Amino acid sequence: MPTRDEILTELGLVPTWRRRARAGADAAPEAPRPAEPAAAPARACAVSEDAESRAARIGRLEWRDFAGDVDACTACGLAQSRKKSVPGVGDVHAEWLLVGEAPGSEEDAKGEPFVGQAGKLLDNMLAALDMKRGENVYIANVLKCRPPNNRTPEPREVDACRPYLDRQIALIAPKLIVALGKSAATTLLGVDATIASLRGRVHRYQGVPLVVTYHPAYLLRNLPEKAKAWEDLLFARRTLRGAAVVDTVPGQN
Ligand code: SF4
Repeated sequence: MPTRDEILTELGLVPTWRRRARAGADAAPEAPRPAEPAAAPARACAVSEDAESRAARIGRLEWRDFAGDVDACTACGLAQSRKKSVPGVGDVHAEWLLVGEAPGSEEDAKGEPFVGQAGKLLDNMLAALDMKRGENVYIANVLKCRPPNNRTPEPREVDACRPYLDRQIALIAPKLIVALGKSAATTLLGVDATIASLRGRVHRYQGVPLVVTYHPAYLLRNLPEKAKAWEDLLFARRTLRGAAVVDTVPGQN
């Protein structure tokens, strides 16, 4: 198991990402809770189901049916091009919910969010916070299926898929949502804004505090921004611990 210094060195963040000792700031993390295995009996979406009925049905899904329902979903055109659906992964009782935009090619092939180099960076960032994928963390995307060629999701695709994310939030009841990247942030918050203007504040989605940071794939292309992402994660942790003031922007969820 690498030490935090080794992780920060690998991320190229020493000394920028080195945490200062602060009284009470580094309480021992909670004992990890095992992720519950997701039973996933397939359940087909009825083709004739209208959007309202579908949203209501998804809003009643339990974990045992969730992944199978996503896998059988044909509510938008992405069902035609996906290899695998990517419902999400992690601790279903997590305090932290990390939300990205949509699966990429490697996620599409494996059926798991944030794999490959971006996923490795995300795991290293979590490790620097003494956290681990699957332990008090759940990772999902706004869209559960990959847009072809990683194009930007269309509004109708987001609308069709949103009931799944909303149900995940209701089932997990996270204490904090971290939106990874501009697309996830602006989609969840319903605003057209730069990521720079959204960082460093506590927003809300579905009543849950939400903070914004960069997508790991963006960080891989823009290494100097890693230090800002680290600041965001520390801000997120302070928010979860109740040390940051919720600054809800009028008009947002
Ligand atoms: Fe269904 Fe969402 Fe996949 Fe579209 S992206 S087919 S709404 S699960």
